[in-house]
Amino acid sequence: MSVIDLRSDTVTQPTAGMLDAMARTATGDDVYGEDPTVNRLEAELAGRLGFAAALFVPTGTMSNLLGLMAHCERGEEYIVGQQAHTYKYEGGGAAVLGSIQPQPLEVQADGSLDLAQVAAAIKPDDFHFARTRLLALENTMQGKVLPMEYLAQARSFTREHGLQLHLDGARLYNAAVKLGVDAREITQHFDSVSVCLSKGLGAPVGSVLCGSLELIARARRLRKMVGGGMRQAGYLAAAGLYALDHHVQRLAEDHANAEYLAQGLRAAGFTVEPVHTNMVYLQIGDKADAIKAFAAERGIKLSAAARLRMVTHMDVSRAQIDRVIATFVEFCAK
Ligand SMILES: *Cc1c(COP(=O)(O)O)cnc(C)c1O
Repeated sequence: MSVIDLRSDTVTQPTAGMLDAMARTATGDDVYGEDPTVNRLEAELAGRLGFAAALFVPTGTMSNLLGLMAHCERGEEYIVGQQAHTYKYEGGGAAVLGSIQPQPLEVQADGSLDLAQVAAAIKPDDFHFARTRLLALENTMQGKVLPMEYLAQARSFTREHGLQLHLDGARLYNAAVKLGVDAREITQHFDSVSVCLSKGLGAPVGSVLCGSLELIARARRLRKMVGGGMRQAGYLAAAGLYALDHHVQRLAEDHANAEYLAQGLRAAGFTVEPVHTNMVYLQIGDKADAIKAFAAERGIKLSAAARLRMVTHMDVSRAQIDRVIATFVEFCAK
């Protein structure tokens, strides 16, 4: 029985084609700037997303950290969602390692931050306060795609207030595929963007930070400082390049599978939130541990939470989704 892992889209295994591309690529020492495949990945993604430069890093956490630290000095502040990955799920790195003060705000139902609330949170120029430097958004945000009009508003808002604008685009391509737009239409509004290659795109490791030449030069120095300077990283960059060439459009399949899963679960009587991309959120209440154990016995890996998140990805097929739905139905019948 094959295992179905719905905990995250980070769990994918590299495909045969990806492994082949990794094995055949040319590498060098990237700390010396001599890895041709890393250089190609950085140039490729910067070009695709409309930035002057990019930096390959091991994780999305490091990519966001370097982005925040490259924008903000010690004692400066960034405004961010209370539920944003950058604020909540990265060990407080910006504060711990960058001495950057976060100003978290509640995320709106559509995944955005209310710009009136952001305006009210910007600190006056007065030595009592940290200097507000940056607004950080996330897209997709818990599977939700930020509206394009909102991105344009956030851009003019940050210009007006003299703030930089960073995007945690761990799942940027899910948003772009869902909207049917070139990813650049999203990233054009930002000063920096972090993209994960190791989520739905299916690479084993790696994220890329994109920005201006100056910003990426600062981030490159910081990457060395936090221990993220890798050597023959071209093997990993090759997986990322392969993913960008072969795994972007197929994200639509993951979105369709998530919608199919939601419909199947609703038909079985479950309360499922509207699906936007590849995440299905389900109210399971106090049965979280029971369903997790029940599913595990049937080869299905779930997280345990009252608001259960299930994530579709390239290693989950439509037939496997049917097995998941059947398992939930069986759980109810028991
Ligand atoms: C996964 C994720 C990250 C961090 O990526 P890691 O590679 O796991 O460090 C950042 N932001 C969002 C929204 C994510 O989902």
